[in-house]
Order: sequence, then C-alpha cells, then structure tokens
Amino acid sequence: MAAEAARTVAQTGHAEQARSFVNMVGLIGDLRERVRLLEAVMENFPGGISLFDDNLQMVLCNRQQKVLLEYPDELMADGYPSMEELFRFNAVRGEYGSGDIEMHVRRRMELARKMEPHCYDRTRPNGTVLEVRGMPLEGGGFVTTYLDVTEQRRNQQLVSHMAHHDPLTDLPNRMLFNDRLTTAVAQVKRRGLMAVHYLDLDKFKPVNDSFGHKAGDEMLIGVAERIRKAVRENDTVARLGGDEFAIVQTGINQRGDAAVLANRVLALFEKPFELSVTSVKLGISIGIALGPDDGATSDDLLMKADNALYCSKSGGRNRFSFFEK
Ligand code: GH3
Ligand code: MG
Repeated sequence: MAAEAARTVAQTGHAEQARSFVNMVGLIGDLRERVRLLEAVMENFPGGISLFDDNLQMVLCNRQQKVLLEYPDELMADGYPSMEELFRFNAVRGEYGSGDIEMHVRRRMELARKMEPHCYDRTRPNGTVLEVRGMPLEGGGFVTTYLDVTEQRRNQQLVSHMAHHDPLTDLPNRMLFNDRLTTAVAQVKRRGLMAVHYLDLDKFKPVNDSFGHKAGDEMLIGVAERIRKAVRENDTVARLGGDEFAIVQTGINQRGDAAVLANRVLALFEKPFELSVTSVKLGISIGIALGPDDGATSDDLLMKADNALYCSKSGGRNRFSFFEK
C-alpha cells in the first residue's frame, strides 16, 4: 500500500517528493525487517532477554523471560512496563525477599540509572537460581538477560563440597582443615589463643581385622559424629586420613580450655560403639599444640600436635598430651 501511494505521488509529477517517500518506505521496510530479525534472535535466545530504552522503559521482552520469571499476562496487557514498574511488581510478589517494597524499588532504580554492566546470581523464592546480566547498548538503551543456572550452581557446589570433604564421614578433609588452621593461626598472631588437637584411634586396625573393613568404616562414621558433638560451632573437626582426625579450637583464653575439650572427647569414647555386627569400645589418643605459643605456622603447629600425640600413644594411649618443648 505504501509502495502504491509512492507510485501515485510519482505519477502526479512530484518526483522529488516521491523519491524521498520511497526512501522512507524503504527505511521502514528495513526497520521492520530489522525488528523481525531482532525478535527472531530474542526468541531463540536460550534464556530470558529484554530491552529497555534510555528512559528505562521496556521495549521488548522474549517469551522465555515471561515463562522463567512467571510474569502474569496482566503485567504486559497494556504494553510493556517500565523498569520501575517491573521492580515494584517483583518486590510486591516477594521476589527480592522481605523488607520495604519502595526501598527495594529505590535501591534497584539507583543501580539501574547508572546503566553499568553487571552480572549476579539471583535466587528466586521458588529456589531457581538465575544468572542476571545487564549491559548498556551502544547508542542507548539497556539489555538484560536471564539464564537458569540452578543445575549448574548445584553441581558447582557439589564439586566444591567433594573437593573439601571426606566422602566417608563428610567431615572437612585435610585441604579444608589446612585452610581453617591457617586462618586461625593468622587470627591469634597478635592476640588470643587457639589449639590444634591431633587425634588417632587406639588399636583401630584390629577392628578391621576382626570384623571387616565395613565395620571399620561404620566405626569411623560413629567416631566423626562423637568428635563433632564435643566441639563448639566455630571449631573445625576434620578427618586427615585413615583413623586420624584433628580439631582446630578457636576463641580460647587459656591452656585449660584445650584440656577441657580433650577431656570431653575422651569422655565421649567411654561408651562402646554399636556397629551392625558387634559393639566395640575404643580409645582415642590426642596431642595438643597451642598457637601462637608452640608455633607460628600451621605446618609447625600440626607437627607439634603430632609430636604430642606420639607422647600420648607411648604414654599408654586413651589420653591427651600437650606439646612440650
Ligand atoms: P594405634 O593405637 O597405634 O594407632 O593402632 P592402630 O591399630 O589404630 O594403628 P594405625 O593408627 O596405624 O592404623 C590405622 C588403621 O586404619 C590402618 C587401616 O587398616 C585403617 N584404615 C585407614 N583408613 C581406613 C578406612 O577408610 N576405612 C577403614 N575401615 N579402615 C581404615
Ligand atoms: Mg590408630
């Protein structure tokens, strides 16, 4: 129809006007084609994607975004909302957690107005984790994308957990223990006291030999549970390997506090372990080194605690010893 109108204008002799009109129609056609392509790209994007103009008014939003963020039809019934309306809608439905609705809107608008590139994870109330990215567009406007990374984040957490924990007891492994020990040592460098307890089960090998490796494993799980019970929330219990465990005890004031913990562990071993095949009573030997008194580094302290453990073993087992210079 537009082309026909252009022809009519041309036939009436207004050639110059016709040319500019045709050019304009061509441009519109080009623009339409561009919008069609843009929409096709957006619909095939593997997540949610929306465009905002300079005034933070939404101008396009793909279907995936509506599905991923569960936008009700009413939200866009009268056209696209502004970013502020969208923020308010989300705040009201609890998408940003608790707190004042207008405070959420204000904070987000302040950030949005900066038109700065950003990327963050947003956990929706339904547990879905979305990776949100925002990017200013050359020539004005803003593009926002949403990817569902729930599965990916869960796997990353699982891999990270596996790298830092012992699979049998789920206690922190040597790697995580070293991290915690290093942190605790650094914390008491100027002020305070901490202790490293090195623990080794007494005569554990005969449990394996008499009742089998499975019974031994069961025993190790029970041991982990008991040691965990003995410590405070801020302390770290780790399985260093085999029948060796360790504790990083933080926030103590005197040597006696470490002795109290060691005695608590020993007391927890007075009761026999009920395994599927039998019941076994087992002792545990403990060596204690104090930071910063006995050593300035985590390696040094652990070595001193191991040294003290040797004293407990050679002194008759089922007891604790402090490192002695
Ligand atoms: P001691 O009082 O001198 O410590 O004697 P022990 O018998 O406990 O000797 P030691 O600590 O040297 O032996 C540890 C044993 O732990 C050796 C091995 O058979 C057993 N062990 C190590 N890792 C595992 C495990 O993952 N599962 C089981 N069931 N046993 C393990
Ligand atoms: Mg042992």
